[in-house]
Amino acid sequence: MTGTSRQAAGSASKPGPELDLPPLLSLVGGKWLPGETSFPVLDKYTQSAVAEVGQASPEQVAQAVTIAQQAFERGAIAPVDRARILRKAAELVEARRESLADLMVAETGFTAADSLGDISRTIVTLNLCAEEATRIVGETVAFAATRGQEGRLGFTIRVPLGVVCAITPFNSPLNTVAHKIGPALAAGNPVVLKPANLTPLCAAALCQILLDAGLPPDMLALLQGSGSKIGQALVEDQRIAFYSFTGSTRVGRAIQQGAGLRRTQMELGSIASTIVRADADLDRAIPRIANAGFRKAGQVCTSVQRLYVEKAVFEEAVARLADAAKAMPAGDPRAAATMVGPMIAESEAIRAESWIREAQAGRADIRCGGTRAGPVLSPTVVTGAQSGMRVVDEEIFAPVISVMPFERLEEAVAHANNTPFGLAAGIFTRDVESALACAQTLRFGAIHINETSSCRADGMPFGGVKESGFGHEGPKYAIQELTEERLITFNR
Ligand code: NDP
Repeated sequence: MTGTSRQAAGSASKPGPELDLPPLLSLVGGKWLPGETSFPVLDKYTQSAVAEVGQASPEQVAQAVTIAQQAFERGAIAPVDRARILRKAAELVEARRESLADLMVAETGFTAADSLGDISRTIVTLNLCAEEATRIVGETVAFAATRGQEGRLGFTIRVPLGVVCAITPFNSPLNTVAHKIGPALAAGNPVVLKPANLTPLCAAALCQILLDAGLPPDMLALLQGSGSKIGQALVEDQRIAFYSFTGSTRVGRAIQQGAGLRRTQMELGSIASTIVRADADLDRAIPRIANAGFRKAGQVCTSVQRLYVEKAVFEEAVARLADAAKAMPAGDPRAAATMVGPMIAESEAIRAESWIREAQAGRADIRCGGTRAGPVLSPTVVTGAQSGMRVVDEEIFAPVISVMPFERLEEAVAHANNTPFGLAAGIFTRDVESALACAQTLRFGAIHINETSSCRADGMPFGGVKESGFGHEGPKYAIQELTEERLITFNR
């Protein structure tokens, strides 16, 4: 962190005792500017304020877009320079890993292991963006296929498309931000970022890192504040060419309505399913399912919410999953033994708990967990849940897995498909043929065989169908969406 930024932070902050806080302000034109009002950032476990962040003013929002638009009109920096800056940023994330992890533990409540995992993935994402920056190519057009056009040559190039607005959620405050900013910058677009106001610190630290890595200051703005004010103002600004959004379907729909004919990438809500067949290797499946359902306190868009298990191994799988859940202590994310930290807010833990109680009242069984202490909800395994209960029908975004038996695979597929969403699904089986058949009938953006719905490598195309949105993360794929394809033809 630079001396200047520490000073800027000091002027508007209430620093936590051990945190290396980033500037608690908005970044416009390379300068950290104080906001007109401020909002506190709570430690999600202790609920004490760790910082006070300035909310951007309407003038700062407009100024940020003006500067970004001017940067676009000036012309993009060379791809090799974009790559160099993104690679340097990855190195700086590595060098600042410990202080970033402290920020993430505080502002999200994630355990150190979950936070360090997000940070390691951020490094991968930025390096992938650096590589892809130098591989932005179009294709040759087959004019010779048309009689009379044989003498003509044609090819496409991919060019930056304009100002990109990135709006991000709380549940991956560094890597999701990197997945939004990184490909946009790699493609040569200036970016205006609005992170979740529950988790503004990691985003600010990443912006500082990009500046320290040599990014021209007019290429990146950070506007702190709420979605209803700052997000809304950004959606209304017609100079923005592209909205890159990750968050709930409700907010995604509003942004899409505001975007009109402008392009968007929508990574939205989800109810993810994983299927376990009787021939599955449970030693492999159960630890993965427990991790996929309970890490980050279940606040992952691909978390296993519904687990369909073939009847012959149902009781064994439930018993093993309950044992795995009991072996994952929940509580203080700074305690070495803790594997499940608090949820993002006590109100969210209360909501999830009330859904569990509703299921119980409908004769579902709580096989383990189901207890809450403040914002901490213990990892919970539910059986006997069914359609009509919110634990099954609505996105729970909490450490709760509902396990349901099936007899025929088609039944499990039909149930898994029976949601408005379609982000990811998993299936464990040794029968490759049935797995591949399933992959053709499960209607999700990704089907993972012998993995859970929640497995992800940052280079792969990642995106949903139905109300889980459209467009793809994964730098190579995102860059396709973040560039315009232009045809150039030449005739003799
Ligand atoms: P939200 O939709 O509540 O918020 C996401 C972002 O949108 C925040 O920065 C928020 O601002 C902002 N926002 C809110 N209202 C508006 C508005 N009117 N205009 C513009 N921006 C607005 O999501 P959460 O942060 O609660 O994240 C959880 C959701 O994200 C879940 O549904 C989850 O499934 C989804 N998600 C999807 C992923 C995917 O890849 N498909 C990955 C990760 C999460 P603020 O909160 O600061 O006010």
